[in-house]
Amino acid sequence: MAFSEQQKIDTRKRAHFRCCLCRALGVEIHHIVPAAEGGLDTDENAAPLCPSCHETYGANPTKQKFIREARDFWYELCERDVAPAREELRAISAALERVVTKDDLARLSIQNTSYVLGQPSAVAPPWEQLRYSFVRDEFVHPLIVRELLGWLSDPGATIVSVDLATANRSNRFFGEFSVKPTNGRVEVSWKTEDRESFWYAHIATSPSGVHMVECHECTGGSGVFGSVCLLALEQDRSLYEEDTSKLFTRERVLLKTLGSLTLGDRYVGEISYRNGILEIGPDEGWFRRGAEASKKIPIA
Ligand SMILES: [Zn+2]
Repeated sequence: MAFSEQQKIDTRKRAHFRCCLCRALGVEIHHIVPAAEGGLDTDENAAPLCPSCHETYGANPTKQKFIREARDFWYELCERDVAPAREELRAISAALERVVTKDDLARLSIQNTSYVLGQPSAVAPPWEQLRYSFVRDEFVHPLIVRELLGWLSDPGATIVSVDLATANRSNRFFGEFSVKPTNGRVEVSWKTEDRESFWYAHIATSPSGVHMVECHECTGGSGVFGSVCLLALEQDRSLYEEDTSKLFTRERVLLKTLGSLTLGDRYVGEISYRNGILEIGPDEGWFRRGAEASKKIPIA
């Protein structure tokens, strides 16, 4: 008879791979009562011994009790030794569960995958002629950005894209707005007499064309709700009718939302875009939520 492989492994582990007599590393599993004398292949009859101790004490019947006691004592020390480490390991594995993995980041990564409907235009795309901008005249009207951001009461934006040229001339998005350079950015703000207000400031544009725009909205109360709106421009073709009989298609530029990130009420902090990461800094605003407000989002 012999100890099973699993039993040997378990015994070695339990002894931290050390001899229960001399603590030398590297052990074999010894029958305390030899198999020839009716010793069983049980854990009770197994002792982890290094080859040297095995040779010295293994065959000595007077040492059986001593080996068993030494083994039990060593098991106890091993057990005691890892008890605090076990707690630490549990804390580490719990913390690891909250660590963002590469896959998580890939899922979170925002990329502008807009595509062009219909045949590509023979004429130059209208990007060059596109005169609307977040950073210079002629500015995208703040109410257009507000529309794309959606209502606070909605789970997300319901209006996801607008024809930029048409929208900027539309009566739907009316009202004077002011432009003021602040901290190296341009704040474009709109407000009414009853303290309703909205302003945006362009943070950066990613290589794939995601425009990151910081927005703050007040609907009249004391709250000023902040978010970072992710916007992209998309070219497509639409149908229009002239003189009720002639049909044409024309290129148009859509401004669409890819989503938004919440900053919270009266957020004040540093927002930057570097090396493909949009970083929302700690909140130093009214509620001083600090790092709780911090986010790092990969944007390609
Ligand atoms: Zn030994």
